[in-house]
Amino acid sequence: MDERSLTVAAVRSVGPDSVAIDIETPPEFDAQPGQFVKLTLAVDGEDHSRFYTISSPDVDGEFEITIGIDPEGEVAPHIADLDAGDEVRIEGPFGSDYYEGEARAVILAGGPGVGPAIGIAERALQEGNEAAVVYQDSDPIHVDRIEALADDGALVEVLADDEDLTDAVAAAVADGGQVFVYGFADFLDEATAALEAAGVDGDDAKVENFG
Ligand SMILES: Cc1cc2nc3c(=O)[nH]c(=O)nc-3n(C[C@H](O)[C@H](O)[C@H](O)COP(=O)(O)OP(=O)(O)OC[C@H]3O[C@@H](n4cnc5c(N)ncnc54)[C@H](O)[C@@H]3O)c2cc1C
Repeated sequence: MDERSLTVAAVRSVGPDSVAIDIETPPEFDAQPGQFVKLTLAVDGEDHSRFYTISSPDVDGEFEITIGIDPEGEVAPHIADLDAGDEVRIEGPFGSDYYEGEARAVILAGGPGVGPAIGIAERALQEGNEAAVVYQDSDPIHVDRIEALADDGALVEVLADDEDLTDAVAAAVADGGQVFVYGFADFLDEATAALEAAGVDGDDAKVENFG
């Protein structure tokens, strides 16, 4: 999709320094959780673009993105200041590492990577499939949706930033499934090492590097 101006339906705090933004889905926009969009915002009169990954299980009517805000960041704090009714410029969807109806989804998420993790896990359970989520963040966000996933039968493990991923990843992949990894580069390195330790080839995982 070429860049379009879309309406913000809601902006919600979903935990410390984090917001979820619901955006009205335009006609002919089809996307899956794990795909991402390019959001362009004018800051001090200059256009800046950043990528954000779809964190809703579907894009029916609206779709959601989840944003971790570094108060020192150039763009994200301005996105957090948006209000319902504002317009945002969106291009996409992009990306090939998303949920495609796999029977078991094992999602490893660091920081704001939890967005696509919950979107994919919710979609998998809705379709009668299985999901496992290993989420590393000392200040977890989307806690209500994480708890709901566990209540609905997903295997869920939340770890602090200084905790080792090895055992949690080994437990999550023990029953097989397609592995997904979402987060910044340092998390991807840790997750890949944990996968290799569990005997899973990192090249078989669907991986999205946030930067
Ligand atoms: C394909 C793709 C998908 C993405 N999806 C998401 C998403 O769903 N949600 C989301 O919040 N971000 C996502 N990002 C990152 C996002 O595009 C921005 O880079 C981020 O919001 C920071 O923008 P900024 O302008 O506020 O910070 P900038 O001024 O660009 O400064 C960089 C900031 O990025 C963050 N950062 C950079 N590297 C790391 C790191 N290793 N660990 C932790 N933080 C780091 C820090 O907050 C840092 O201050 C994605 C990036 C890509 C490439």
